[in-house]
Amino acid sequence: MVSKKTKIIATLGPSSRDLQTITELLQNGADVFRLNFSHGTHEDHAQSIALVKEAAAALGINPAILADLQGPKIRTGRTPQDQAITITRDSTVYITSQISECTAENIYVDLPDLDRDLKVGDSIILNDGVLSLVVVAIEADLFRVKCRALNTGTYSSRKGVNFPNAHLSVPSITQKDRDDIEFIRTQPVDFVALSFVRRAEDIVELKKILGADLNHLRIIAKIEKPEAAADIDRIIDTCDGIMVARGDLGVETPIANITILQKDLIRHANAKAKTVIVATQMLESMMDRLIPTRAEASDISNAILDGCDAVMLSGETAAGKYPVAAVSMMAKIIDATENSHYFLHAHKTLIIDNSNFSRRAICNAALIASDKLGSVPIVVFTEDGEDVWYLSKLRPAGSLYAFSHSVNIVRQLALSWDTRAVLVDDMNQTELIESIEKHIVDAGFAKVGESIILINGSSKDSWGANSLRVKKVGEA
Ligand code: PEP
Repeated sequence: MVSKKTKIIATLGPSSRDLQTITELLQNGADVFRLNFSHGTHEDHAQSIALVKEAAAALGINPAILADLQGPKIRTGRTPQDQAITITRDSTVYITSQISECTAENIYVDLPDLDRDLKVGDSIILNDGVLSLVVVAIEADLFRVKCRALNTGTYSSRKGVNFPNAHLSVPSITQKDRDDIEFIRTQPVDFVALSFVRRAEDIVELKKILGADLNHLRIIAKIEKPEAAADIDRIIDTCDGIMVARGDLGVETPIANITILQKDLIRHANAKAKTVIVATQMLESMMDRLIPTRAEASDISNAILDGCDAVMLSGETAAGKYPVAAVSMMAKIIDATENSHYFLHAHKTLIIDNSNFSRRAICNAALIASDKLGSVPIVVFTEDGEDVWYLSKLRPAGSLYAFSHSVNIVRQLALSWDTRAVLVDDMNQTELIESIEKHIVDAGFAKVGESIILINGSSKDSWGANSLRVKKVGEA
């Protein structure tokens, strides 16, 4: 298995939904698998999950599953025979909420109140930025808006439609999302991501719908709308992490701003000790080539140097020709970046987090001890994973090893930066320490007699909740 600190999320799809490919993705550095609910059926996703479980069991590891809900993504209807249609610059196009076949003059989109949500001057962007329109008149009686094409471009069936300046009245969690959540309820999923988050209240609503029986899921807010970027601190407070979803973000905001926006979003998430994922087009050219562009290689390194916890592959692993080569390339770029002199554990940003003070104090002490004692590994026994997530955000010099009785916690920690998580049996305190140390020695993480920092996050035994010990491996 590949050793690296920054985690890789690989999206599964037709190119990778088979045992051999999933096994190779894991062997080459994938830590988390993403199921994109914008594509595929519940049957497809159930099959993906079953294959991940089979591959992981054979390799003796515990990757996580992230379910990515489509959210209020607006799409075009169907074109005749699903063909591409070209719209020429300055031509008039009607965007309508009345179900109809899409043509060069009339485009149906699934936004019911578009004549009320839009105003003259608003822009409408189709097909990931390929075609831009501006609204020139509202024709409410015909449930449509009249637009002028700002460029010549094409679109086809079910292409994404973005309304960058409009405040849409569509619900944040659609009926499709609710149906997908019911499916997720039946599956061993570890993370749920919500697309097109606009406000913190969207995440609060998602949690309400997930309910008590899904409150173990960690929630990722996908930041792809300017409204969300403007409300980022409130959103971060409600969720476990954010995804810089640059695909739609690069359509909804001027693309020239995307680098600075990425840096800002990462800084805000790190300041609040929340997970941050950078996504989309990281190795896009590897959809059909074995070597990425120089710009793509540079993009991955820079995302890491910006301080993200994970980088994500979308089409590259879901629908590209070379899913395994893409993960392998990403792992090589991560390795080269993390072993460079620019990678200084530089993101020990001030963490503004006054919750759980006693637990935080123990973690802060572990950080200082690990740094001062010369990159000593930090070993945490955890029941809920919280100390590990927090410690990982502190970017200690020594690596983090997490041990837990809970397979759910172990799987979730697959996304935690520079963390190896191991499932251990329920046992008494002495046996537990022996078992943890044996694992560390067998895996080559530390030798007998070397120092480790041991944190016990257990609330139930006499070892004492929130204790920290600096001890030598093998000594009582
Ligand atoms: C994105 O827009 O960058 C993204 C990750 O979302 P999706 O792949 O669902 O479009």
